[in-house]
This record gives sequence, C-alpha cells and structure tokens, in this order.
Amino acid sequence: MLRYQTLPVTAFQQNCSLLWCDATHKAAVIDPGGELDRIIAAAQALGLMLEQIWLTHAHIDHAGGTGELARRLGLPIVGPHPGDQFWIDGLPQQSAMFGFPPAEPFTPTRWLHDGDTVTLGHETLDVRHCPGHTPGHVVFHSASAQRAFVGDVLFAGSIGRTDFPGGNHDELIASITERLWPMGDETVFIPGHGPESSFGRERRSNPYVAGT
Ligand SMILES: [Zn+2]
Ligand SMILES: [Zn+2]
Repeated sequence: MLRYQTLPVTAFQQNCSLLWCDATHKAAVIDPGGELDRIIAAAQALGLMLEQIWLTHAHIDHAGGTGELARRLGLPIVGPHPGDQFWIDGLPQQSAMFGFPPAEPFTPTRWLHDGDTVTLGHETLDVRHCPGHTPGHVVFHSASAQRAFVGDVLFAGSIGRTDFPGGNHDELIASITERLWPMGDETVFIPGHGPESSFGRERRSNPYVAGT
C-alpha cells in the first residue's frame, strides 16, 4: 500500500510530501523546498528509507532544498520535465528574489515525460506532464491509492498562477481537464499549497474549472 505524510515547508507553506511503500518502507520525498532537517527527522521518525527525490516543478519553494538534500543523502533526483530547465538554472535568482537561503545547483538524474512511471518498493505511480503553471510541471498519480500529487497545477478552490515566464493559462486548463479529470472524481489530490481535495469536488465547485 502507498502511504504518505505532508509537511508544509518554507515561508510559502509548500506541501512537501514523504511517500512510501508500506511493505518495504522505501520512500521518496516530493518537492523538498527547504527545512531539510525537519524533512529528514520526519522520515527517520517514520522509519523510512529515503531513496529518491521527486520534483513536480522547479520553483524555489518546491525545489530549493533539492541540491543540498541530494548531496547530503546521496539521493537521485527524478523530474521534473525538461521544460523546467530554465527554472533550475534560475534558482539563484529565485532565492534572492523571494528571500530564500541560497539553493545549491543540481542536475536531475532522470528527467520525466508524460506517460513515464516511477517506482517505490512495490508501488508504481504514473507521471503526467501538466504544463501551464510552468512548462515542465509534472504530476504523480497512484491509481491504486487514488491519490495524485499535483504541485501547483490545481488547489482546493483555485488553480496555479500563470503569470510567471513560461506560464500559459489555456495550457493549464487543458492539463487539468485532459490529464487530471480522467484520473477520476474520487481521486484525492495533494496540492502544492493548502488542503487536500478531490477532483470531483473541484469539478463541482472550483470557480476556475467548475463544469469542465
Ligand atoms: Zn510553483
Ligand atoms: Zn508553489
């Protein structure tokens, strides 16, 4: 069974998630934006073997701790999609602009593309490319657990910003309606900020995408 625990990190309260296979305790961390000591302590308290870093996209609050965490624990970096290379290159400027500690540079061990899968012990998740908030944004979906880790694509009651370089509103709406909705109304999603919701609930009540 797939299990997870979410820890809001950084001044942006970004939902960093620890995700693990119940049978093996093999774990990944999604979007280690910062507060690495807290993330590592939480993984230890849960008895997890942290083996991978997965990235939804390369904004500072999601990816800022990636280089340092990979170096400290010797972890591979999986994702995002190559469309976010310019955001990775721009992490030093992002740190300065938003008052974050300097981010260590990194190169993903494995870039992700639409239709890829990622594996954690006995658990396999599907990767969907969901551009719009950033060009290289990806989403991780566990069909068996009916959970999706969607970063800043969709929030409870809102959607991701598209006013950054490379953002595109129409692409974002298409990502949500063509790549998230088919995962099913019952699927619970863990957004990059704020509380969880389900796709069905957003389809009914989210003013940005209701009725789509
Ligand atoms: Zn973002
Ligand atoms: Zn964010």
